[in-house]
Amino acid sequence: AGAAASTHVLIFPFPAQGHLNCMLQLAELLAAADIHVTFLNTEYNHRRLLRSSSGNSLPGRGPGPKVQFRAIADGLPDDRARSAARLLELDASLRARSSQAYRDLLVDLREGSGGRAPRVTCVIADGIMPFAIDIAEELGIPAMAFRTPSASSVWAYYCIPKLLQSGELPIPEGADLDEPIRGLPSFCREARSSDDPMLRFVAEVTAHSARARAFILNTCEHLEPSALSSIRARMPVTYAVGPLHALRSGSESAPARASLWREDRTCVAWLDGQPERSVVYVSFGSFAVMSRKQFLEFWRGLVGSGRRFLWVVRPDLIEEGGWTDEMESMIEGARDRDRARVVGWAPQREVLGHRAVGCFMTHSGWNSTLESMVEGVPMICWPFFADQQINSRFVSEVWRIGLDMKDTCERSTVERMVREAMEGDAADELRRSAKATAEAVRKSVEEGGSSFAAFQRLVQHIKSLARPN
Ligand code: UDP
Repeated sequence: AGAAASTHVLIFPFPAQGHLNCMLQLAELLAAADIHVTFLNTEYNHRRLLRSSSGNSLPGRGPGPKVQFRAIADGLPDDRARSAARLLELDASLRARSSQAYRDLLVDLREGSGGRAPRVTCVIADGIMPFAIDIAEELGIPAMAFRTPSASSVWAYYCIPKLLQSGELPIPEGADLDEPIRGLPSFCREARSSDDPMLRFVAEVTAHSARARAFILNTCEHLEPSALSSIRARMPVTYAVGPLHALRSGSESAPARASLWREDRTCVAWLDGQPERSVVYVSFGSFAVMSRKQFLEFWRGLVGSGRRFLWVVRPDLIEEGGWTDEMESMIEGARDRDRARVVGWAPQREVLGHRAVGCFMTHSGWNSTLESMVEGVPMICWPFFADQQINSRFVSEVWRIGLDMKDTCERSTVERMVREAMEGDAADELRRSAKATAEAVRKSVEEGGSSFAAFQRLVQHIKSLARPN
């Protein structure tokens, strides 16, 4: 107990929605295991979190262990969008303009100043911020890397330098985009030279994050045994502790949520009035954007399918200047006929767990994929970016719990896939395997399961770092 009480972890996620949720869940789980946790946000995101959640979905409410929040500036002007297109800009700004504040904070916490918590004894940094790992280690604080994508994606990223070396990347212009190539991350397909900034970024952070003491991955042995064993050949101490939102260790309260947008809960009441498994839930996560044309193809395909649908249309989902009055009146018309609901941001985990939801049309973000999997909801995948092409291929070809639209979003494809996922024998088959996968994944996060056990080992590892050698 002595070591536990003196254990203090600082968790530093990359400031994006898909990174915040799962790392906050980890924070909450560690706090429940009697570890002090400081969660480091950017000021920009922390303000948004407080505005959107009124504080009540963040951990630290009610009795029990608490997670303390700290914030540092991300270095970008307040009016600058922090979207997918700006990922590299945000990364560069964090490296150049936030690392000093991060270092100062660590120095401060290393001394145990403030008196409320013991000295920081471990850092868990997002694996795409190697500078956070290096600075911690320089200060004598052991660092672990949390990687938010699937193990298969992390492994694919590991292979990029080799593919560059062998000349298989970048893919020569005019090359036949056969099936395996279509399943590569978007930035691999789009790179025109070996100096492509996104390709370089991913390869570099992946190689670099291996300097950490351990990897923490939000996946489980059942889902990705071979990718995990490939990763372990390079990074022997790799903890597969996912899906974190389903891993409950001792605490029975709902897992923490950190939404950057305010959740519109009216859709839950609407779902309450719908028949079982009748509604298509549509959401493309926090980053993906689409053109007006793509939006209209989706909309018309969904309407053509004859199914009711609930669609999360974030204020910035449509490319700049793409929004029209026609779209507004289409949405209102569908609402009046009770065919569809559109919200700006949904309580997604609750929606996916709702009995009225029959399938999930998704951009295949890893968090969304795990959330759908745990609820046994079949997916229709329209992968947008980065690891999402890999996730959608695993969903459709390996786990067989969904359909992959790949790059197309014509209305006829949308319509056909909704029918296939919701009606007839193919739909029954999908639902059966989605249910079996849900059971296996849930087992791994329960006592006796592999993720549950890995989490216990991770806690022991973290606590051992607090003991003087
Ligand atoms: N999410 C949500 N409400 C929405 C849409 C998304 O709460 O209306 C959450 C979702 O549950 C998931 C996260 O936002 O935890 C999105 O992460 P993901 O990895 O799926 O995609 P990204 O946003 O990183 O592309």
